[in-house]
Amino acid sequence: MSAAAAGQTPAVVHVVGVRPNYVKVSAVLRAAERQGGLKNLLVDTGQHYDASLRGDLYRDLGLREPDLYLGIGSGTHSQQTAAIMVAFEAALGRLCPDAVVVFGDVNSTLACALVASKMGVPLAHVEAGLRCFDRSVPEEINRVVVDGLADLLFAPSPDAVDNLLREGAPPDRVHLVGNVMVDALRQALPQALRQGTCERLGLPPGAYALLTLHRPCNVDQDGPLLRILEAIAVLQQELPILFPMHPRTAARMEVSGLGARLRSLPGVRVVPPLGYLDFLCLQARARLILTDSGGVQEESSVLGVPCVTLLERTERPVTVSLGTNHLAGAAPEQILGASRLALGRERRPIVLDGWDGAAGPRVVDHLVRWLTAGEARRVPGR
Ligand code: UDP
Repeated sequence: MSAAAAGQTPAVVHVVGVRPNYVKVSAVLRAAERQGGLKNLLVDTGQHYDASLRGDLYRDLGLREPDLYLGIGSGTHSQQTAAIMVAFEAALGRLCPDAVVVFGDVNSTLACALVASKMGVPLAHVEAGLRCFDRSVPEEINRVVVDGLADLLFAPSPDAVDNLLREGAPPDRVHLVGNVMVDALRQALPQALRQGTCERLGLPPGAYALLTLHRPCNVDQDGPLLRILEAIAVLQQELPILFPMHPRTAARMEVSGLGARLRSLPGVRVVPPLGYLDFLCLQARARLILTDSGGVQEESSVLGVPCVTLLERTERPVTVSLGTNHLAGAAPEQILGASRLALGRERRPIVLDGWDGAAGPRVVDHLVRWLTAGEARRVPGR
């Protein structure tokens, strides 16, 4: 019998494993610890095993060490998903939680959602309903499958609710809770602004661009990488660019031989990925952000900093319709055009219901109610 059914505090396993999801879980765990009503277990799959994507984030977000670290590491999508499934199945067998909460759209999210569903453990998805409507994007497959399996769907924005309902999700399972990443940002911003990161890196506050790049469609082939680099080569003559480079991108740059071209650009400074506080400080002080990160599209909109997204589509359309985001893809002329347009714009923070710093508490309220009302039921024998 589950703890909840026996009248005990329900136990919830929160699954993380990559950089953006450390940010998301920090907001939910902070709320859960403040509000009580749940026994919280943190499982880290180790999908991001590079210290630069993990250790500093744990420290900066005040995340406690995970209860279980699966240490999976890299591989093809299938290898990674399968390895996480095998390890998580054993973990769930031991932990026997009343529910599993997964975040975002990565392979850890997919793998653990599949395992929880097959083991009959109630499943909740934070950041449900986001769609870019392009099945060639690996994360889109993960989003669709996880939302199809989840018993409780926590949507960050009204467009995500619409997507879920259009796909047939039962309305009583869909909750518009807002954006947990914004909770983390609002919590950390005062401390981030005291980091003095610009001064430490010699960047003129308000007069530099910040670049991040890691999506497979941009970095796994030479073509897009080369085209983005062409635009960067022009832009760095107009303002200095800081490029905290993802290890995946760094490896591809060397394999493709483009690393030398990048190093020859005097206006571009490449550094390893930064901790959350330093990166947040740099986002807040930037004149322009260029990115293919989902989270950075949202954070730049919340900060009101103009953002050019190096993708054809976004699963976060509110950042374009209400925020500061411009979609440019990987074509140099598009990137330069969007950058110049963005540079001419004033800072304008997004205003959206639920992007208010209280999404985590809403997630926890729903979880506690759901688990204690006995609506979340294990399916025996599944
Ligand atoms: N981030 C960070 N350091 C960096 C770059 C990004 O802490 O050097 C943070 C960023 O503020 C955001 C998250 O990482 O909270 C975004 O993660 P990522 O771009 O890896 O993934 P995505 O959002 O595209 O899934």
